[in-house]
Amino acid sequence: MTPKTYSTSSAMTLKSEPDAESHPSDPSKWKRHPELYLSDGSVVLLAGNTLFRVYLQWLARKSEVFANLSSFEKVQPNDADTYDGCPLVRVSDAPKDVEYFLTGLDACSDYFFPDSPTPWAPTAAILQLSTKYMVSRLRERAIHHLCRLYPTSFDDMNPHHKDLADEVFGLDGGPEHPIILVNLARSCNVSKLLPWAYYSVVRWSFKDMVLGHKCHDGTLVQLSDQDRTICLLGFDTLMGIQHKNMKEIFSGPCARCTDKGEKCSSAIEDAFRRALEEHGTGLIAPLGPLRRKVLACERCKENISRLDEEKRKEVWQNLPKAFGLPPWGELLEDTE
Ligand SMILES: [Zn+2]
Repeated sequence: MTPKTYSTSSAMTLKSEPDAESHPSDPSKWKRHPELYLSDGSVVLLAGNTLFRVYLQWLARKSEVFANLSSFEKVQPNDADTYDGCPLVRVSDAPKDVEYFLTGLDACSDYFFPDSPTPWAPTAAILQLSTKYMVSRLRERAIHHLCRLYPTSFDDMNPHHKDLADEVFGLDGGPEHPIILVNLARSCNVSKLLPWAYYSVVRWSFKDMVLGHKCHDGTLVQLSDQDRTICLLGFDTLMGIQHKNMKEIFSGPCARCTDKGEKCSSAIEDAFRRALEEHGTGLIAPLGPLRRKVLACERCKENISRLDEEKRKEVWQNLPKAFGLPPWGELLEDTE
């Protein structure tokens, strides 16, 4: 999926989406949204068969795309469809997504408070639509919310990931598969989420990376051809790095070994052998802390932990590169 860009002219296409023209919806099936159809609203949005009536100036103040639409309507008022006395704007978004988006635009919305969860579905919908309709503040808040869970620095990596997912997304716990995160970050052009998203995909399952994942609701989520290639190459690179790092971490007793190297030597060899066995099963976790017990002396154990930490930091630094992305510094600067 290529990142979308929206020119100012996209506003003009809002009311005449090709889909909407080739498959005109039947007005008898249109339904007013129970909460978001305001009797004194000045514009009607039609998403699927759901009608939303809100204030055009309110939308225009927040969204560059709607600001352009607002001036367009002033210039050519007769060119617009109308509904209930208001200009009718057909949008190609899912009704539920529009509901989340309009709710998120409201200054009183409950979304994205730092100490309370906002589930995945509204977060993803708001990120998508605030990107599409160019609402920069709301887009930033959605990205910030995602960054509460998905690390963008080494220190952000949280071992209690599951609890944190509950805190951030509530009971739905986030997307069912990391491919969904990759596709969201790609379509909304949030590059800083990509290294972790790709890393999560390559760790999850090789088969899913190639064929996609069938969700509980039956939908198949897949990587784009480009992202699949990126992940396969990243997988290969990280496997190589992991192998090299393991060799260095388990290279043998340290210089200060109190065991004179005898017991420690075989304990470290044993740990390396077991690590290689896991490696052989395709386990890839070069960022995961070492959990394996090594029955060596305290100094050797310390040495192994120190090397492990150093190597993991190195992997983190090189993570973007493994997926063909610019370095962290550049990714983090890019807030657009
Ligand atoms: Zn030792």
